[in-house]
Amino acid sequence: MEKKVSYDAFWMPFTANRNFKADPRIINRAEGMYCYSDNGTQLLDATAGLWCVNAGHGRKEIGEAMAKQVAELDYSSPFNFGHDIGFEFAERLVSFTPPGLNKVFFTNSGSEAVESALKIALAYQQAKGNTGKFKLIGRELGYHGVNFGGISVGGLTPNRKGFGPLLPTDHLSHTLDIANNAFSQGLPEHGADKAEQLEQLIQFHGADSVAAVIVEPISGAGGVILPPKGYLRRLREICSKHDVVLIFDEVITGWGRLGASFASEAFDVVPDLITSAKGITSGVVPLGAVFAKDEIYQTVVNSAPEGAVEFFHGYTYSGHPVACAAGLATLDIYQREGLLERASGEIGQYFQQGLHSLKDIPSIVDIRNYGLIGAIQFAEPQDGKPIGFDILKRCYDKGVMVRSMGNTIALSPPLIIEKQHIDVIVDTLSNIAKDIPA
Ligand code: PMP
Repeated sequence: MEKKVSYDAFWMPFTANRNFKADPRIINRAEGMYCYSDNGTQLLDATAGLWCVNAGHGRKEIGEAMAKQVAELDYSSPFNFGHDIGFEFAERLVSFTPPGLNKVFFTNSGSEAVESALKIALAYQQAKGNTGKFKLIGRELGYHGVNFGGISVGGLTPNRKGFGPLLPTDHLSHTLDIANNAFSQGLPEHGADKAEQLEQLIQFHGADSVAAVIVEPISGAGGVILPPKGYLRRLREICSKHDVVLIFDEVITGWGRLGASFASEAFDVVPDLITSAKGITSGVVPLGAVFAKDEIYQTVVNSAPEGAVEFFHGYTYSGHPVACAAGLATLDIYQREGLLERASGEIGQYFQQGLHSLKDIPSIVDIRNYGLIGAIQFAEPQDGKPIGFDILKRCYDKGVMVRSMGNTIALSPPLIIEKQHIDVIVDTLSNIAKDIPA
């Protein structure tokens, strides 16, 4: 295929630039469950882009709502001015959030939602008079975006190293335990006791110094690591006991991925703050949000003198009217088509059965899944070089787009997926996996 444009200027994120530019994978069109490469090859999108295109590609209603909004109000400052669509979207959003989380702080991405949540947690502790509570606790293999707060609490080593001193943090262990939980369907049985580490870390640092704990209910970028049964509930108890703010980073797990609006609902554990992005607009336009407990909002707001700004934080594009219009249209689709619950029904079951049908392939050491998120972990190759990216390329050549991390392949298809698409994903992975030495 002859190149139409130069690939020189674009410094690509989280990509081996030289390698990619020598052998590019260019997607110029997408519709429904499919993307199309520049030579017209149809590619089944088994990852909903980057875990975000939950309503499927090319949803015209979203584009139409955005065009209408541009014609009506393209932009207005969110500092000291408001617009109805921002307030309307916020009200609509909190009809989906867990009980009590009825305030929304808008951002433009998941990374910004994380920074905002960490700062809200710190501001809340200060407003409450907990003046020594500044430490933040994250988790090994956690991914919380790429800004400085997010990489400080994050637990993926390559994302942290080389950027100098980070914020004062500590980290819980991750909960991946292949020895005891391999091939669990849904939440694993073993390992809830790992939550006790939080008690130990809080004792070690002193409860009067720990402000917040942030975890992804299911770690995505770290390899789709599921919480053992009872683990998140125990974290909740320990945070409540020590007045530590519990943040669920639901940038991936929100908006139907687990068959509910949020993981909090699916797992029946209510945190103090939730971060959101991606599926909030089905990936069509950047938008993120933090959902906060009413008590957190009231404490911060009421701590400032009447007439004074209460929280010195915000973005030029917080609650951008065009993004809010896209978000409202996305929520309409989710509700009209029952997409938020879909992963908890027959299609989620079919996805689970399909993935676990690969169990006996010798090169596969673990399969993990919940709702419409899944992972297949391959044995570490003899030479120690991770095999995931090689599998990604082989899948691409066979018309299926997957995500790779180390020796793991992650799947998170659009929520509109049908059984025949799952069959194609499973067959493709099966054929490739059978060719890989154990
Ligand atoms: N948190 C989690 C759990 C994520 O998975 C991501 C993105 N994959 C982010 C935060 C960062 O989101 P963004 O890339 O929109 O900044």
